[in-house]
Amino acid sequence: MKNMKNFHMSSEEFRKQGKQMIDWIADYYENVENYPVLSQVKPGDIKNQLPETAPDESESMDQIMSDVNSILMPGITHWQSPNFFAFFPSNSSGPSVLGDLLSSGLGVQGMLWATSPSCTELETRVLDWLVNMLQLPDKFKSTSAGGAVIQDTASSAALSSVLAARERKTNYQTNDSGSLGNLVAYVSSQTHSSLEKAIKIAGIGKNNLRLIEVDENLAMRTDLLENTIQEDLQAGLIPFFVCATVGSTSTNAIDPLPEIGQICQKYQLWMHIDAAMSGTAAICPEYRFILNGVELADSFSFNPHKWMFTNFDCNCFFVADRSVLIKTLSILPEYLKNQATESGAVFDYRDWHIQLGRRFRSLKLWFVIRNYGVNGLRYYIQEHIRIAQQFAEWVRSSSEFEVVAPAPLNLVCFAHRNGNDFNKKLLETINSAGKMYFTHTVIGGNYVLRMCIGQTNTNEEHVRKAWETIQQTANELIQKD
Ligand code: PLP
Repeated sequence: MKNMKNFHMSSEEFRKQGKQMIDWIADYYENVENYPVLSQVKPGDIKNQLPETAPDESESMDQIMSDVNSILMPGITHWQSPNFFAFFPSNSSGPSVLGDLLSSGLGVQGMLWATSPSCTELETRVLDWLVNMLQLPDKFKSTSAGGAVIQDTASSAALSSVLAARERKTNYQTNDSGSLGNLVAYVSSQTHSSLEKAIKIAGIGKNNLRLIEVDENLAMRTDLLENTIQEDLQAGLIPFFVCATVGSTSTNAIDPLPEIGQICQKYQLWMHIDAAMSGTAAICPEYRFILNGVELADSFSFNPHKWMFTNFDCNCFFVADRSVLIKTLSILPEYLKNQATESGAVFDYRDWHIQLGRRFRSLKLWFVIRNYGVNGLRYYIQEHIRIAQQFAEWVRSSSEFEVVAPAPLNLVCFAHRNGNDFNKKLLETINSAGKMYFTHTVIGGNYVLRMCIGQTNTNEEHVRKAWETIQQTANELIQKD
């Protein structure tokens, strides 16, 4: 033992470096507005500064952090900048970062109840809180036949729902004997691409995915949904799954949940609701209406990692009948057998999703909900929606710009009246200046800009400045022509 080498970081060094790291992050948050929001580097710029081989000898944390500052930071796109208006947000907060740090520190792998009872039981409790916070039906609570689980992303939740739906429809035959090949799923033309991916992975086949057209609000047309189901039935196919979206990625469109739910019940189809970003708004009583009809769903998922101040990754997936999900995904090799599992008195969350191992994600969510309180969370969601609506008003009152899709919550799709090429140039010019970051979508062949407000610290001033910059940049482009 005398000659044993030690390459581990000492406890004393860990303390010192840990404190410095928290200071680094706090400084970053204080100064985040000084960075160009969209990273301005070219492909290869970062990789070319990194050595081709790993170091043989130990390097100090000071050396490592110096490279973080000089090499990596220019290649960061600043999602936590209040001037980040692109995609959907992936916001964060102090309590969330601290919860995630504690989760890393504990280093728990919570695949089974027995591998850390707190990891499972805190998760169950926090998810039951969310049922109350979002006013979801009691069937999604752990105390009923349903329950919920934290997954990494909405994509994984979608895949889990497709698999459970497939198994329920085929009486668990697909798991045993392979895909039947005649199951059919339904989404709208606006549904997130993760559903198409789930359908491919689940062996349903892209050709058995029907993209239902949308109405003028970009919401699924239920008359077309029902017609398509009937046509498929007549052709001898087996409809089994519908995904309804609350807050589509492109425009925040909301599908008619009650009508879709009734159709699902009539034809015995699994109804999944994807409310990845917008679900969070339902914690505010005045926006809870977006989930009317959720009582008809078999599964529902939303991402606190988008808009609920809980850093990536954290998706909450609720099911009305957990036995279907568990029967679909459960596997019990000898080495995982243990008394608690055999007693049937516990949840083993590894049976509720694709992978086996799992992080202690509920910690950060618990920290966030407790530290903000539900009223604190509501306050910021209401504020984001208020300033998004204010932005929409400014756009509507301008003679040069127009709002091009309904803006029910925190996303406003807008365009300059000068047409597609101009809007594309406008977006590129604004993003390359680095002061703010927008992304685009295409609606009815028109290239439009998206203003999505959901970063933790975005306030009215940021949005006012963004609107001024948009107008000014458009005027400059017109003058240059
Ligand atoms: N569903 C919707 C409506 C989304 O907007 C997104 C991503 O933005 C997803 C699903 C996929 O999210 P995730 O990255 O959690 O898989």
